[in-house]
Parts: sequence; C-alpha cells; structure tokens
Amino acid sequence: MNFKDKIYKSDEEWKKLLTGEEYRILRERGTEQPFTGHLFDTKEPGVYACAACANELFTSSTKYHSGSGWPSFWDVIEEGRVDVQVDNTLGNTRYEVVCARCGGHLGHVFDDGPEPTGKRYCINSLSLKFKPKK
Ligand code: FE
Repeated sequence: MNFKDKIYKSDEEWKKLLTGEEYRILRERGTEQPFTGHLFDTKEPGVYACAACANELFTSSTKYHSGSGWPSFWDVIEEGRVDVQVDNTLGNTRYEVVCARCGGHLGHVFDDGPEPTGKRYCINSLSLKFKPKK
C-alpha cells in the first residue's frame, strides 16, 4: 500500500468514529470473547472490510470454520492489504495482523490453517464490516 493511501488519525479522532468496543479492539489491541462476535459463523458470499477504514481485507471464499470462535480465513483478499508484526505480549511469540491502511488491530495469524496456504488469520468480528455480494 502506498504511503499516500494510509490513514493517520489521533486517538481522539478514532474515539469519535468508533464504538467503545471497536476502539478497544482496533486501537488498543483488544480481543473479543470467542463465539460472541457477529461474524464468526457467517457463510454468505461477500467481502470483509476493515471496520475502521473500509479497506477490503478478506473474502468469504477463503473463510472457513476453524472452531476457534473468531472469523477465520486462510488468505487475505490481496497481498499488501494487511501488515503482520511480531507480538510478544503474552510471553510467547505471536504474529499480529493489522490493517495496512489505518494500522487498526485485526487479530493474529497462525500456521495451523488449511491448504493451500496453511495460514489461519484469526480476526475479531468487531474489526470487520461484512459487505454481502449483490
Ligand atoms: Fe483499516
């Protein structure tokens, strides 16, 4: 993603745009409780975009039932839509997934996903907005 396409906002600006729970997850790296999000079990065709900036991130064609309780995808919609960074906050190394446009926290990516990528993008429902295919 080009530098000019990135979105930078202050914490105060984000607080006005997001609900309290969205802010906690997207801007403070929070996690929603498993099996509580509104998108973890959806199967309808469509696109999943960043809830903060509408950057299109995932499609229903790579969504799968992981059993984790969070929306799970084995690939991103297109390379460069997310950034992955090392997260050592729980004492073990995990890989945090953030929106490449706004820097919002989405979730984590693990290496126990299905073929062909072997990846599991484990994403908070509240970090996503679903756009059904028309
Ligand atoms: Fe975003």
